[in-house]
Amino acid sequence: MKGRHLSDEPITTIVGRPNVTDNMPKAFADKPPLRILLAAPRGFCAGVDRAIRVVEEALRRYGAPVYVRHEIVHNRTVVERLEAKGAVFVDELGGVPDGGHVVFSAHGVPKSVPDEARRRALLYVDATCPLVSKVHREAERHFSAARHVLMIGHAGHPEVEGTMGQLPAGAMTLVQDADEARTVCPPPGNLAFITQTTLSVDDTAEIVAVLRERFPAISGPKHEDICYATTNRQAAVKAIASGSDLVLVIGSPNSSNSQRLREVAERSGAGRALLLPRPEMLDWTVLDGVEVLGISAGASAPEELVGALLRLLGNRYALAVEERRVVDEDVVFRLPAPLA
Ligand code: SF4
Repeated sequence: MKGRHLSDEPITTIVGRPNVTDNMPKAFADKPPLRILLAAPRGFCAGVDRAIRVVEEALRRYGAPVYVRHEIVHNRTVVERLEAKGAVFVDELGGVPDGGHVVFSAHGVPKSVPDEARRRALLYVDATCPLVSKVHREAERHFSAARHVLMIGHAGHPEVEGTMGQLPAGAMTLVQDADEARTVCPPPGNLAFITQTTLSVDDTAEIVAVLRERFPAISGPKHEDICYATTNRQAAVKAIASGSDLVLVIGSPNSSNSQRLREVAERSGAGRALLLPRPEMLDWTVLDGVEVLGISAGASAPEELVGALLRLLGNRYALAVEERRVVDEDVVFRLPAPLA
């Protein structure tokens, strides 16, 4: 875990028993009991928080519209709220008119994107998470040292596209899983590896072990580049998984870290684990037979969605809510230069 460690055991807090009172109405008292285990940390990370503040501050300073290349973070609730304030989301810079203000998302962008923005004299602010930028710098460092770079990550994810776009074509090879690590044939010469920040800690350890065995001289970080928020949320969901009949992870299907949380929960002993993009999308039949429900949220999911889910559940069940916290986080990133 990365952060202020609390103890070897998660700290359990009884958050509330919202429907258990002595004088509750009969219909209320008849609700079936449901025990909730809340994973902590969960939800927003420092990089997502900063990216949202970047868009809000850009809107405040420059006025609407402020264009945002790609979803600023992978969460529709966040995107829709920023749209309501005047943000306009575009897939590529072609959607930004000359002279427009544009923000690059937290996932990072290939070098070609700021190059194009400069060519078109667009006014841009880069909201790339500093922990992703750190991986970009690692890639450049390896390239300067004439090392071919193996990028461990998932094809098509914007962070991977952004990181691979830091180096000229052919300077990096993508490795997506342990099978690819066993078969990858990099060009002869020195090698290095870097990783996407939102991968499964356990899967990545296996991939790195395969690479280190095949290429003992490979350079790379001591373990991987997985960020503190991904590491901590996976540790927290592990702490609730084995005691839960079902784990719901609030997060979007295109959110890598949310998908990994769901997989980690399932592999760590949860009866079942499902992704829930929004509380109102809950299919109530999944709760049939569930006595203990685990809840977590991906790094791009706001805490209010957890509150909304608990309120929905409280309408049908007598809830007993416990939070299991594995580590305290106090990471905050400053806004980037033009807005700081
Ligand atoms: S998940 Fe990690 S790398 Fe991604 S934005 Fe959050 S802190 Fe940064």
